[in-house]
Amino acid sequence: MGGIPFIVSAPSGAGKTTLCKKAVDFFPDLRHSISYTTRRPRAGEVNGVDYWFIEDRVFDEMIARDEFLEYAGVYGKRYGTSKKDLDNLLSEGLSVILEIDVQGADQIRERLPGAVGVFVLPPSIEACRVRLKQRGKDSPEEIEKRLNIAVEEIRKAALYDYIIINDDLEAAFEHFKSVIAAEKARTPRMLEKIAGLFGAVTEIK
Ligand code: ADP
Ligand code: 5GP
Repeated sequence: MGGIPFIVSAPSGAGKTTLCKKAVDFFPDLRHSISYTTRRPRAGEVNGVDYWFIEDRVFDEMIARDEFLEYAGVYGKRYGTSKKDLDNLLSEGLSVILEIDVQGADQIRERLPGAVGVFVLPPSIEACRVRLKQRGKDSPEEIEKRLNIAVEEIRKAALYDYIIINDDLEAAFEHFKSVIAAEKARTPRMLEKIAGLFGAVTEIK
């Protein structure tokens, strides 16, 4: 049985990485898709863990070889999801979180119709500013560049299957866990899973 691809998008500073990391720690069969990016690592980020950090030239080569399921320019750098890496995880039956921007999500919706979209909203844009400052990894110019397009990104929230407001982190995480658990329990997915246990389950008329 293939796993579920979850698309998670949010304006910068909304807390999506924090929520996704907690979810991956919580669900044993959930993984994080490691994207490829041309941006430089922030202090503490590790190649092959947070991202695959690559040069522009290598990104161009990957595009030429048609290796990306989706890619986009975000805040002046490029980010993409490898088809092969994602297929490998899904075909092992693992569910996968794709933490990608709204442009990448548009591409995935067309190419992977079974993907489940989750949009993480901050309580306010000001909260994002405070959180990005407290995170202390981006320059003031970089923070403003990111906040300038936050409202535009939020307009796309209506295209997602679920919206989670990340005001109180633990409450937001409870909602996120519920979404993941509910998606795993959807009847078509459960029928595939229980077929091996009970044989074919007949339809009740
Ligand atoms: P994103 O991936 O959306 O850019 P992060 O997950 O890196 O955001 O979170 C940005 C900062 O905000 C981090 O320092 C994180 O610890 C903090 N943060 C995340 N969620 C909350 C929350 N609900 N309340 C306060 N701070 C939060
Ligand atoms: P950051 O630089 O803060 O890690 O990420 C910047 C933005 O790029 C975020 O909105 C993040 O979700 C997005 N992003 C990260 N990886 C990918 C990817 O593989 N594809 C796309 N389209 N966006 C990504």
